[in-house]
Amino acid sequence: MEKALALIFSFVVFVIGLAFLITGRVAVGLLLFAVALLLAFLAFRRQERVVVEQKIEIGGDIRSQLLQCRNCGAELKRDAMEVKLGAVFISCPYCRSSYQLEEEPKW
Ligand SMILES: [Zn+2]
Repeated sequence: MEKALALIFSFVVFVIGLAFLITGRVAVGLLLFAVALLLAFLAFRRQERVVVEQKIEIGGDIRSQLLQCRNCGAELKRDAMEVKLGAVFISCPYCRSSYQLEEEPKW
């Protein structure tokens, strides 16, 4: 709602600026145009960013175990895990290999 109001307000300022332009006061008209643009810009900028966050939920067994890279055997930190398309992916920072973590890993 706040965004719509700001847009309406910026439109009103724009129309007033247009009126000033038509009546010959170009400087005032352009200034009001600038204000209108700024208001519209701010209205769009205020839009809150929707952060989609997926929490990695893995069974307790894995949580307590040490994560090891399947490719090079390096110790992997928790942030090497990534959830993509509902599956857990591991990306190794050492050998740069990435693979999907299976439901029940055998380690
Ligand atoms: Zn690795």
